[in-house]
Amino acid sequence: MQLPREVIVGNGVLTRVTEVAQRLGLSGSALIIAGPKSCEIAGKTVRDLLEQTGMNVDTLLVETATLRDILTVEERIKAWKPRVLIGVGGGTKIDAAKLSSSRQGIPFISVPTTLSHDGIASPLASVKGLDKPYSLMAQAPLAIIADTDVIAQAPWRSVISGCGDVIAKFTAVKDWMLAHAEKNEYYGEYSASLALMSTKLVIQNANLIQPGNDEGLRVLLEALISCGVAMSIAGSSRPCSGSEHLFSHALDMVNCPHAMHGEQCGVGSVLTAYLHKANWKRIRDTLKQIGAPTTACELGVKDEDVVKALEMAATIRPERYTILHKLNLNYEACEKVAKITGIIG
Ligand SMILES: [Zn+2]
Repeated sequence: MQLPREVIVGNGVLTRVTEVAQRLGLSGSALIIAGPKSCEIAGKTVRDLLEQTGMNVDTLLVETATLRDILTVEERIKAWKPRVLIGVGGGTKIDAAKLSSSRQGIPFISVPTTLSHDGIASPLASVKGLDKPYSLMAQAPLAIIADTDVIAQAPWRSVISGCGDVIAKFTAVKDWMLAHAEKNEYYGEYSASLALMSTKLVIQNANLIQPGNDEGLRVLLEALISCGVAMSIAGSSRPCSGSEHLFSHALDMVNCPHAMHGEQCGVGSVLTAYLHKANWKRIRDTLKQIGAPTTACELGVKDEDVVKALEMAATIRPERYTILHKLNLNYEACEKVAKITGIIG
């Protein structure tokens, strides 16, 4: 089990990167992976601060997290031999840093600039361009430095997506319990409870999730970090990714461009909560309350794409047993579910 050693959350905590590096015994050189924007917002500050302590710092800008990007970062690691990799950005930059550092056997520090999904603290990385659309096991961050002043500058939609990704754990855990009951799959009660608690806290505090409300951002940030820790404890994405994530992956395959990951998972969770005979209306109402999409139209996809995605979701990952595998719904049945839950008209 790999867990972060230092988690620092709050206003202005970016400046504590030097103190964290010292406590973790990291000296010599560091490589920062950032996007052009996240470099401006936070990457430059991290570099300046570390350089002031005498570290040699190099920055590599990446736009996406394709296998090619990962290999580019790995080449730079081999040439530059940094002591630590620091991922500064939203999903893709963190993923690129996480996977390349893991493959090259050096630690990685996560400095999120958005809260769009749970990858900021998880040991898994999502890479585009592989035959599998879901995440790969990489490594947990050695430290997480989440500055709410920096995160507050990100587009509000990324916060909504992050909330959707946390709320989706409701059905992910239900799927895991189902796999345990019917397929005798290992079920970790501790990690499942941790993921579920994150969902509950976001649902209970949905009224705080509003632009300009630091408390709401903090609730979401802590929920996302807890989800990452839950995956570390479980040793897989099981507590945080079930049928609703399969629906989101399927939607990516059916329709591109599409909505954000967490937005799609939120809608997926409404659909699969219904299939689990759980309180799907509460999921839908919470998503509505925070301004997240709850219909195909709001996701920016056609009604039939939602139905197609729901029908094909189980085929994406046959070994990950969920309610979709159990029910094996045909197109007509999927259409009915999408209509009853109001996702399609
Ligand atoms: Zn997710």
